[in-house]
Amino acid sequence: MRLCSIASGSSGNCTYIGTDHTHLLVDAGISCKRIDTGVQELGIKPDELAGVLITHEHSDHISGIRVFSKKHHVPLYGTKETLEAIERMDVKKEIDPDLYRPVRADEQIVVGDFTVTPFSNSHDAANPVGYRAEAEGHAEELSQILACTASIQLIICLVWMQFCLKQIMMCICLRQVRIHFH
Ligand SMILES: [Zn+2]
Repeated sequence: MRLCSIASGSSGNCTYIGTDHTHLLVDAGISCKRIDTGVQELGIKPDELAGVLITHEHSDHISGIRVFSKKHHVPLYGTKETLEAIERMDVKKEIDPDLYRPVRADEQIVVGDFTVTPFSNSHDAANPVGYRAEAEGHAEELSQILACTASIQLIICLVWMQFCLKQIMMCICLRQVRIHFH
């Protein structure tokens, strides 16, 4: 089994997991062009992918999905709520509804060489899941939520730092004003 991160972080998430015969992506949060390049660098044609396992509908996990599925006609796995959210965002209805494959937490599905078990994840999304993918006697748990949470934490941290900096600047200014008065 091969596991490879094509992209991760707040700018987009996309992970490859595959065997010699079955190739899957977990999330597609980068442009179709970047996905194509990333997959080709692994020696795989994007059309050979057996599916995209979607963790949740935040843009850093699905931004490439519309163009990618239109171009390569790859099935999209996700919870019913996640797929419905994606369908709502697909205003031009570019994703073929036949490509949607709803999954449920704790219900195993088989995709080629893989036995995939979605599991519930706590995250601010419709019904987010992670995926446990088993093949060739190996198992990997792909949650992808961490990247999202980490980027939110970073934003909170930056906002807080900005606030502190403003307070410090204000103190300095006030002191200077006071000095002027004396
Ligand atoms: Zn998220």
